Amino acid sequence: MKKVHNFNAGPCILPDQAIENAIEALKDFAGTGMAVIEVSHRSKEWGAVMEECRALWKELLNIPDTHEVVFLGGGASLQFLYVAMNFLEHRAGYLETGVWAKKAYKEAKGLGDAFAVASSADRNFSYIPKGYEIPEDIDYFHITTNNTIYGTEIRYDMNCPVPLIADMSSDIMSRPVDVSKYALIYGGAQKNVGPAGVSFAIIRKDALGKVSRYIPTMLDYRVHIDGGSMYNTPPVFPIFVMKETLKWLKGTGGVEAISKINEEKAALLYGEIDRNPLFTGTAEKEDRSIMNVCFVMAPGYEPLQDEFLEFAKGKGMVGIKGHRSVGGFRASIYNACPLESVQALVDCMQEFEKMKA
Ligand SMILES: *Cc1c(COP(=O)(O)O)cnc(C)c1O
Repeated sequence: MKKVHNFNAGPCILPDQAIENAIEALKDFAGTGMAVIEVSHRSKEWGAVMEECRALWKELLNIPDTHEVVFLGGGASLQFLYVAMNFLEHRAGYLETGVWAKKAYKEAKGLGDAFAVASSADRNFSYIPKGYEIPEDIDYFHITTNNTIYGTEIRYDMNCPVPLIADMSSDIMSRPVDVSKYALIYGGAQKNVGPAGVSFAIIRKDALGKVSRYIPTMLDYRVHIDGGSMYNTPPVFPIFVMKETLKWLKGTGGVEAISKINEEKAALLYGEIDRNPLFTGTAEKEDRSIMNVCFVMAPGYEPLQDEFLEFAKGKGMVGIKGHRSVGGFRASIYNACPLESVQALVDCMQEFEKMKA
């Protein structure tokens, strides 16, 4: 079905199977004679979709009973505010690893005392800070596990002396995660688990209820847990497509299996970036993301940037222009991006090298 090699950063490529099943559900959902976007969210057919979606999340990520998963509107950007509303009482620490981390931090500063525990702003967020100490008297420590714009990633579950909160928008379900180490994991669906319009939050239930402020109803995680993500009308279509995306993921062998494929794809592309004299990577090698691969023209070849973009476009590559704050190129190689697309990009880089080097 795919006619192009889609490296968009988000919204991004989704599995064919998820899109085909979504099209079917728009024609006739579960034998109801109605489109999935026409049925009541209180119907038993819709209830079954919600149940299946929650069950897939719990199974694929091994979510323990101490935690609950909820689906929300407003994107990861609104959850920046949810985090502060629900967890910030005295003081919060943020790891400043990029634009998204700064935006999360900004919302906390608006509500109370928040500070950057460490930052990699000095080198345009090309690395993950190390050797910092997490104060033990803060309400929580916030990290962005994958920095979508800069192509850096914290690909392990850190030990943290205070509740650990992670924005996993762009690497959720890309590798196994020890959920028990986090008070909260949240993100937008549109990078790795579905279309835009829904976000997820995996919340340790006993970490809630510790702040004294009034929390507006729709910003209170407890309301959404109690309401089974249906306190108000949920974003039904994005949730349906997310459920289908997770079904596909389960069918491919789950998170463990996809993480091996993701590593293979990333190794293939980074290998070419490191070998090809025309290109160079922008992130520190040890902190490289396996989801967003950022690179630029190597010194001396910078004037060829636009020409390579055009050349790659002619070969069917879509979405490889880097974010304006980094420049160059970014290939987002999320779960649904096939190895063949990564190979096609590598072939394209090699052909360009033959023409130019
Ligand atoms: C895309 C992104 C966001 C913002 O997500 P929205 O759903 O558009 O609000 C936040 N954090 C990270 C790491 C992202 O990649």
